[in-house]
Amino acid sequence: MDDLRELYQATILDHNKKPRNYGPLEDATHEAAGHNPLCGDQLTIRCHVDAEGRVDALRFEGQGCAISRASASLMTEHVKGKRIEEIDADFERFHELVTGSPSEPPRSEGLGKLAVFAGVREFPMRVKCATLAWHALRAALEGREEAKTE
Ligand code: ZN
Repeated sequence: MDDLRELYQATILDHNKKPRNYGPLEDATHEAAGHNPLCGDQLTIRCHVDAEGRVDALRFEGQGCAISRASASLMTEHVKGKRIEEIDADFERFHELVTGSPSEPPRSEGLGKLAVFAGVREFPMRVKCATLAWHALRAALEGREEAKTE
C-alpha cells in the first residue's frame, strides 16, 4: 500500500509540474472558469466539441495547488475524444471516488489514472481542489461561463 501511495503521489507531482493539455485553445466552442475560494485555485477550461458531440480537444489554464492542477491535467487526458454523456458518467464516478467513506475500499473502475485521487477522500478540504476542473468542464459543456462548486 505504501508503494502504491508513493506511485500515486509521483503521478500527481508529475502532472502538477508538467501539466498536459495546458495553454490556450484556438477555435474553442465551449469555455468556462472555475474558482475554489477555499484554496485559491482558479482555472479556465476550453474545449472543442465536434459535430458528433465528442470533445475532440480540450485545454486548461490557470493557477492553483498541486491537486487542482494535476486533476485538471489528468482529466483532460482522460476525457479527450469522449462524448458528453460519457464525460458526465465519468464525473459521477470520479466524484464518488473522492467523496466516498475512507473506511470503504475506493472503486475506480473505468477511471484509469484518475484512481490516483482516491486518497483525497481522507481530506475533505481537498475535494473541491480535485473536482474543480470537472465542474468547470461541465459548466462549459452546459454553456455556463462559470462553474458552481457545491
Ligand atoms: Zn487547491
